[in-house]
Order: sequence, then structure tokens, then C-alpha cells
Amino acid sequence: MPDTPPCPTPNLDPTADLAITNVTALVHGDGGSIEFLDDATILVKDGKILSVTAGPDVAPSDGVAARDVARDVALATVTIDGRGQVAMPGLINCHTHSPMVMFRGAAENVSSSDWFNKKIWPMEVNLTESDVTLATRLACAEMIAGGTTTFADHYFMMDRIADVVDETGMRANLGWTYFSSEGAAGFDRGLSFALERNASASGRITTSLAPHGDYTVNDDDLRRTAAAGLEHDLLVHIHAAESRIQTRQTRALRGISPIQVLDSTGILAGRTLIAHGKGVVPEDLPLLAAAKGRVGVGSAPKGYLKVGEETTPIRALLSAGVAVGLATDGAASNNTLDVWESMTMTSLVQKFVEQDELWMTARQVLGIATTGSAAAVGLAGVVGSLAPGHQADIILVDLSGPHTQPIHDLAATLVYSARSADISTTIVAGRVLMQDRRLLTVDLPSTMSALAPRLAQLTDISHGKSIQDYGF
Ligand SMILES: [Zn+2]
Repeated sequence: MPDTPPCPTPNLDPTADLAITNVTALVHGDGGSIEFLDDATILVKDGKILSVTAGPDVAPSDGVAARDVARDVALATVTIDGRGQVAMPGLINCHTHSPMVMFRGAAENVSSSDWFNKKIWPMEVNLTESDVTLATRLACAEMIAGGTTTFADHYFMMDRIADVVDETGMRANLGWTYFSSEGAAGFDRGLSFALERNASASGRITTSLAPHGDYTVNDDDLRRTAAAGLEHDLLVHIHAAESRIQTRQTRALRGISPIQVLDSTGILAGRTLIAHGKGVVPEDLPLLAAAKGRVGVGSAPKGYLKVGEETTPIRALLSAGVAVGLATDGAASNNTLDVWESMTMTSLVQKFVEQDELWMTARQVLGIATTGSAAAVGLAGVVGSLAPGHQADIILVDLSGPHTQPIHDLAATLVYSARSADISTTIVAGRVLMQDRRLLTVDLPSTMSALAPRLAQLTDISHGKSIQDYGF
């Protein structure tokens, strides 16, 4: 063969799998500011965002010429006309227990300790793997319908939850909960799950180590968790500084705060996702600031209001450089898995607790709902922004309803007027999971008819057993 170089490959522009046209796109400007591009076109290929361009005549920023965008729209496999709608990054639920939708409304008007000791932990004795599968399908239906594309889950039988994430097309970070009362088996099972299922479901599943809390997992197990997290680069997802009461009791018992427990056991040396953090105290802030870039906090304000408690000190956490994201916790305490609702409440509750009407504006909370939440679950640069190279996790919000018209300030319309039911379309990794409010990957009627006969047995606590004892 003659020693000649191969013919140059023709410089073919990539053809999009999906094009969303005529939409107003929420994008992030310099410094993470929230901006809106009118008359935008979003192109998606191989599950990722290829380009986001404003107007047919504006040259895109990623070097693809405007005429190529028009050509790609014409050639795209699927085109969605987004006229009258806003495209946003899919919502991220930074802390939930998705199968607990099966206990929605089953533990109302009780104290926090009775909620655990007399209701939830006795009811969880009844769980079967089939219950967890069915309840997770219901949870995924609710999340997809509410525009959530990623959720960080902390529960039992996590292999069944992973199977449902795979089948429904969602994205999730999954951690199998363990208590020290289980002995070594709990930690071992959690680590095996994390190693086996990480990067599964075409990369949509990432995993974490999920010790239940700093008060239900002893220091030795927290140290083992920290070491394994660092060794395998796994997120550690843990309930910590859950409330001021918990912080007070931990200080009384041990002389240090829950965040100091995480620091002294090495948890804060790795990537950490803290659920709630309502009991974070001033001396914790330097420790959290030192873990900047590795530590995130998920805040679920609705459940805090329901039990009349304080909320996450978001202003102090953000000042310390901690990533803060939105969460719902489980539906047994929050009644919904509606992250949109968390977004609205976070703005309102933060204004209230800080007594500052200029704090946590609509744009600030949209930043928390997007890049903030992505950072909190360890997926910064992967999801949370409609930017080239990010995963194509996109929702379309229909603002044609009377409660969202007219629009003078789009950020305010989204946060204070729109509802999750205004979301028409949910896309994960370029795959449409809901279109025009029709769920495409979950059969909700069959899920509910299979779950319904189990409800009485699931909530029966006459056996007198419990999976754990809550000491606060
Ligand atoms: Zn929780």
C-alpha cells in the first residue's frame, strides 16, 4: 500500500436527534446569573445538549453557524414546537425517599418522635420488595409529571429503586440506607450496591454511600464510610444537623455538634450531601467552608413548616460557599415530591426567616433550583444548565394559563405564579418521558391498581415491631 495519509474525513455537522424550537430558554450567564433567551432553538444529540441559540438570525456561541441550526432543525429526528413555553433545566430533588409515597398522608398531626417511632418505622417493617417497586413507579410518575429529572434517593431495597429508575428513564443518585444497629451487614450492602450500580442505566444512575444519620450510625461506621467514599470517589448522603433539637442533644451527649461529628470522622474530607442541615450552628460554618466544593445541603422547607420547625440557614451556608439545593424529603412528611413547590416555598420562607424582602429573589431561587441543586448532588457541569455538553434534561413550562398571564417579569412568573402542573414536557438525556402531560414511561393506572390492595397491610402497625428507635 502506498504510504499516503488517509483522506480527510468530511467535516459533517452533527445531525440532531431532537430539536426544540420557538421556545424561551432559561440559561446561565457569567457568574451563574439567570437569563432568558427568546425565540430559542435547542438541539440535542446523543442525550446531550448540542447548542442553544437565540433567534434564527443570531450566530450561536458554540461556533455552529445559524444556517446550520436551521438545517439541523429540518433534519432532526424529533422536533417539538415550544411556542409559548419556557425551557428550563429539569428540576433536581436533592433528598428524598421516593417509595415513601406509599405512606403519603399516613402520619399526620404527630410529633417528630412519634412520626418515627409510632408511625413510619413500625410501618416500614411491612415493606416487601414488590411494594418498593410499585411505590417507586408511583414516585417516578409524580416526579416526571412535576418536571423532576434527577433525584437523590436514600432508602432500603435500593436495587429495586435502581431498576425502576432504569425502566422509567429518570436520572438518580441512589444510596442504600444503613444503620449501625444492623452491624457490618448494613454498610457492606450499601457499599456493594454503590459499586455495582454506579454509572448504570446508560450513566443515568450514580450512587452514594447512605449512612442514615450522624445519630443512628456510630463513629466507627462513619469512619469506614468516609474511607470508602474517598477510595471509590462516592458521594456520602446523610441526614445531619437535622434540627436545632438534634444539634442540642448531640452537643449535650457528646460535647460537639453533628457537623463536628462529620468532620471528626472524616466524612467532610470527601464529597458529602447533607439532608436538611437545619441545625447547623455558627461554629460549623468554618468546617463547612473548608469543605467548599465538596459539600452540599438539600433543603425541604414544606416539611419543616408542617412540624413548626426552623428552616435550613441557606444564607449562612451560601456565604460559607456550600452548595444548597432543593429537596422534598419523602412524601410521608412532605405529602408531595413536588420540587417546584419547594422552589416557591424556599423563596417565601427565606424572605420570612431573614425578615428581608430583597433576599432570595425569584432569580436567586431559580439559581438554587438549577446549578445549585446540580452541585449539591455532585452533578455540577453534568445537569442543571441548558448549556452545550450538558445532559439534555429539559422541561417545558406552558405559561398560557390565566394564572400566569400577563408576564412582566418572567422569573417572578415562574416562581410565584406557575405550578408544577404547568409543565407540559419532561425530557431526560434527550428522551421524552412526558409530552403534553402524557406520561410515556410509567403506566400509572396499573401501578395504582397493584399498589391499592397492599395499602391496609402497609400501614398496619399492630405487630408492635419497628425497624429502628428514634431518640430525639
Ligand atoms: Zn430524609
